[in-house]
Amino acid sequence: MATELTWLGHSAFRIDTPGGKRVYVDPFLNGNPTCPESELEPERCDLIALTHGHDDHLGDTVAIAQKFGCPVIAQVELRGWLSTMGLSQDPTQAVNKGGTVDVEGVKLTLTHGNHSSSLFRDGVFQYAGESCGFVLEVEDGFKIYVAGDTNVFGDMSLIGRIYAPDVAIVPIGDHYTMGPGEAAVALELLGVSRCVPCHYGTFPLLHGTPERLRELAPAGVEILAPEPGETLTF
Ligand SMILES: [Zn+2]
Repeated sequence: MATELTWLGHSAFRIDTPGGKRVYVDPFLNGNPTCPESELEPERCDLIALTHGHDDHLGDTVAIAQKFGCPVIAQVELRGWLSTMGLSQDPTQAVNKGGTVDVEGVKLTLTHGNHSSSLFRDGVFQYAGESCGFVLEVEDGFKIYVAGDTNVFGDMSLIGRIYAPDVAIVPIGDHYTMGPGEAAVALELLGVSRCVPCHYGTFPLLHGTPERLRELAPAGVEILAPEPGETLTF
């Protein structure tokens, strides 16, 4: 069995693990202009992993988690807020940077990210912790680094050194996150050989392109740029 990674547009991904688990990352499906129609209603979900609380990442989390009763792994403050929205109050699902959660053989470690995190509700911004990335290790040891929304930062080299991810999912859209120039340096610091760019093309402001990243990326790094709805098999 392999790991299947399906881009659902923006920063939303569906990961089907070798052990048969279905993981949703930042499931912004309804309202996401690039999410394929066929992906708007998940058939099943065993785990949701969130990078931060902004609505273009939180997306359909509450509805999916309530429908399937699946765990939602997020930083403590965001996960605490979710428990006020009807999700279970489960400390095993509320993690912080450096911490690892093992959900039946799928391991998730929260990592640093450079961004903000809040929820705009009832006319005010509510604190949702910090924006994070994470390393997801599936049952056979394959590791996916999800950078979340961030600029490049030097400690990405620590993520590379400690976790040695097999593929890195990094934002390239610019404006709210890094663009291709910083993303190219991120790939160098991470020392990865494969990259899946995200957080681009959703809205006109997110103008970074995989083509530009290919021009700037370190030699030998493969830039895999699926279309929304397309599946990569590792
Ligand atoms: Zn975002």
